[in-house]
Amino acid sequence: MKLILFGPPGAGKGTQAKLLIEKLRLPHISTGDILRSEVKNNTDLGKQAKSFMEAGKLVPDSLVTEMVRKRMQSPDLKNGFILDGYPRTEAQAKALDEILEGGIDTAIYLATSEQVVVQRLTGRRVCPKCGTNYHMTNMPPKNDMICDQCQVELFQRPDDNEATVKNRLAVYLKESSAVLDFYKNQGKLEHVSGDLDSEEVFNIISKKIAAL
Ligand code: AMP
Repeated sequence: MKLILFGPPGAGKGTQAKLLIEKLRLPHISTGDILRSEVKNNTDLGKQAKSFMEAGKLVPDSLVTEMVRKRMQSPDLKNGFILDGYPRTEAQAKALDEILEGGIDTAIYLATSEQVVVQRLTGRRVCPKCGTNYHMTNMPPKNDMICDQCQVELFQRPDDNEATVKNRLAVYLKESSAVLDFYKNQGKLEHVSGDLDSEEVFNIISKKIAAL
């Protein structure tokens, strides 16, 4: 199954992806994670992407699409994938259809209110080792700022400060309706409230997938 998780930053795409990987046993592709790793490793792509990411802007379509095109050639994706963070623009949605020949099976849209997004992102902390997301009030680690599994100190993503979060949301609002229309017109869009807690969201998504 070729599944897309779509929604604003902070909608819970990463959290749902983690739950869905276990259920569907499919690889997870997060363009945000790949780009952060490119920045960390100071690759050519990372150097080009860094300033856009720090400002909460989108990395240019051509760079991200090339990265996705390469990733899609990998044999581990033969049974499908869970794609999160791509496409974010109409041009990316069209490019993905071309890359996949036949397109995706379904796009799950996690519709989430601005208030919930800002609260979630500014409280988010991440484990640098295993990538698990915590939230300082909604889902705190057992010991202050330490990952429950890895015992290393959590950090705040540099783009999770309030000013950059507002920028990321503005970018999302500008680009998202064209992407939503694109999949709606193909009859592939499934709407789920991202304001609900993660377990509820997961149950709704699971039912929708089972009905496909
Ligand atoms: P995320 O982890 O999905 O919130 O992505 C973090 C940042 O990576 C975004 O704010 C963008 O700067 C960049 N990024 C991730 N995916 C894309 C994409 N599909 N198109 C353009 N930029 C992206």
